[in-house]
Amino acid sequence: MKYTGYPMKDRDLSTPLKAIQQFCIFCMGGERSLVPGCGSEACPLFQYRLGTLPDNQGET
Ligand code: SF4
Repeated sequence: MKYTGYPMKDRDLSTPLKAIQQFCIFCMGGERSLVPGCGSEACPLFQYRLGTLPDNQGET
C-alpha cells in the first residue's frame, strides 16, 4: 500500500534546506511539531532538520 499522508509533490522543495525540512516532516508522519524533538542524532539530516544551517557550518 502506498503512503499518501504527506504528499511531497505539493511541498516547497526549492532549496536543499527546504527539501530536508519537508523530508523530516514526512519522516515524522506529517507532524511538523515532532521534528524539533527528533532523537535520531545519527541521521545525516539531523543538523538540518529545522531548515537552518548548523552554527559551526563553514568552520574548520
Ligand atoms: S533528522 Fe532524520 S530521523 Fe530525524 S526527522 Fe529528519 S529524517 Fe527523520
